[in-house]
Amino acid sequence: MSLFIANAQVITMDGESGSTPVTASIRIQDGVIAALGPDVRPEPGDVEIDGRDRLVAPGLVNAHTHSWETLFKGRFDNLPLELWMLFSYPILGNTRVDPDLVTLRSTLFAAESLKAGVTTVIDDVLETPDQDFDQLDAVVDAYDVAGIRANVSGHIINKPFVDTLPFVGELLESSLLDDVRAMPVPTTADYLDFSAEAFGRYRGRGGGRISYMVAPSGPQRCTDDLLTGATELAVAHGAECHIHVLETKTQAVTGPEFYGTTLVKHLDRIGALSANTTFAHGIWVTDEDIELIARAGVSVSHNPISNLKLGSGVLPWRQYLDAGVNLGLGSDGGSSSDSPRMLDVVKAAGLLHKISGPDYESWPTVQEVLHAATLGGARSGMLQDAVGSLEVGKRADLVIYDLKTLAFTPRNSLEKQLVYSENGGSIDYVIVDGEIVVDHGSLTTVDEEALIEEFAERRPQLQSWHDELEQLNQAFVPAFTQMHHRAQAQDIGFTRYLR
Ligand SMILES: [Zn+2]
Repeated sequence: MSLFIANAQVITMDGESGSTPVTASIRIQDGVIAALGPDVRPEPGDVEIDGRDRLVAPGLVNAHTHSWETLFKGRFDNLPLELWMLFSYPILGNTRVDPDLVTLRSTLFAAESLKAGVTTVIDDVLETPDQDFDQLDAVVDAYDVAGIRANVSGHIINKPFVDTLPFVGELLESSLLDDVRAMPVPTTADYLDFSAEAFGRYRGRGGGRISYMVAPSGPQRCTDDLLTGATELAVAHGAECHIHVLETKTQAVTGPEFYGTTLVKHLDRIGALSANTTFAHGIWVTDEDIELIARAGVSVSHNPISNLKLGSGVLPWRQYLDAGVNLGLGSDGGSSSDSPRMLDVVKAAGLLHKISGPDYESWPTVQEVLHAATLGGARSGMLQDAVGSLEVGKRADLVIYDLKTLAFTPRNSLEKQLVYSENGGSIDYVIVDGEIVVDHGSLTTVDEEALIEEFAERRPQLQSWHDELEQLNQAFVPAFTQMHHRAQAQDIGFTRYLR
């Protein structure tokens, strides 16, 4: 199929015009942007979309999310990460999600993302207690059918969960501790074999839209040989290595407790930093950590809404950019932020750092925020040559916004209104790899009504599953609460909370 978008306002995010709209027409052929400019003409057979009163912008890249949490949307509030994880990633009970529910879950997540203008998801697929190919196949198949672009992991924790946190070994009653430590954890060899197979298995899926990435959960949650082995595998495949690093103060305390240094220095010391690496969160970093991150070319995915919801702290936005670190933006999972709507994340990123101090010249600009939401995220996923900006030769992932809407009225500044006024309600078309996946605001690839109906039918069953898991895992709450307070009371020499 070939498409022609005539005479639109276009935010290209390329090196020339950046986030400043230009008037242009766009030709798309075989999934690629074949031509873009003021004098581009249609060719016979092109399906034409009138670009007048419309804004075309690159599809949004969600640089950090977990589709698993889609099933937990809206269940929790006012819990810090470590306590929230007890319920959103339960340790005890039957947590395995069957492939048919994984399909449903992934389809819901893809559908909600696409309708919100998100064309790429970097989905750190975390199944508990562990992941198998039946489950990951279900994710990949669902994304293939939905027409979204995705990096999917391979997430792994290869230590007993209670041993990934400070003080829990002392605080948890011994029988519970023994039970959890007796649960099997995958070995480094298991994971690297799984990942090597996954790279081959998913290469080229969805016409090349889908890629596998490795995702050791975090430096405190994985053994050193796993962290270095996963990094080497990612580099060998030109793929992303996705790691959670320093999301909370508790994790900042963990570094000195476990390794006698910061978690970033530990990763550096063992050779687990690379230009293929993305840190999810990266909040509780020191100045020296930021230098190491910049030097290694590590990207950081900033997840402001999740960080606000879980009270994790505020990422040092300006320090990262001043050091030359590439930033992406992510929603994080469907429970820590309750929505994959990236335009909310874009707005939050634009706003949050303005209260970090009165030096208004250092506050995030619209150009910076939109760059992080598009090209920055694409770079973090090793997809920068394919997507993230509208340029001839790149894959055609774009969103067409109707400008005859309340959000864009009066029409003052399209780029500022895109960041601060628009919530996705103006989205007319979403195009991924040259295919129209949202047409006049409706999904073309997913039967939305049937999806909602299927979830409604399963609601009693899902509800009792949730209730049972939440009740079982209450057993950890007293020890984890004490752990949280003890970690928070430690003086680590700096803070990422606003006071
Ligand atoms: Zn995460």
